[in-house]
Amino acid sequence: MVHVGIGYDVHQLVAGRALFLGGVEIPHTKGLDGHSDADALMHAICDALLGAIGEEDIGHFFPNTDPRWRGVPSKIFLEEAARQIATRSGRIVNVDATVIAQAPKIYPHIALMKQRVAAALGVSEKQIGIKATTNELMGFIGREEGIAAMAVASVDLPE
Ligand code: MG
Repeated sequence: MVHVGIGYDVHQLVAGRALFLGGVEIPHTKGLDGHSDADALMHAICDALLGAIGEEDIGHFFPNTDPRWRGVPSKIFLEEAARQIATRSGRIVNVDATVIAQAPKIYPHIALMKQRVAAALGVSEKQIGIKATTNELMGFIGREEGIAAMAVASVDLPE
């Protein structure tokens, strides 16, 4: 039976940090602040996958109070989500996600993001959708104070 999950994440943009989205380092004047590499796209996808199997969110598996996860690449969170699905004999059907960022331009990096997300999950790039939009200059995203991502995932689980 196919189960769906939803995920959302947001991080502040700050000076002095590298910007990682979908496992890709994107040249920019600011980066996302957080305990890990703060890859909001991978975090949203992770929560969508965990939600599809009825699990708790990414913070339950990787508390931001634990020094082991400081600065780690977020692909390890996706690898854990894939492992949780595999232990239930589940299969990822597809993931679809949207990055909401006023700047920088995300589109040129999407093909590589799909590759990196697919590799971390052990699936084909064809199963991964990633889009990007601006926030039309409105609100905190429009003011470039942060970047958000939302995702849905479907997982086929045995009944
Ligand atoms: Mg996060």
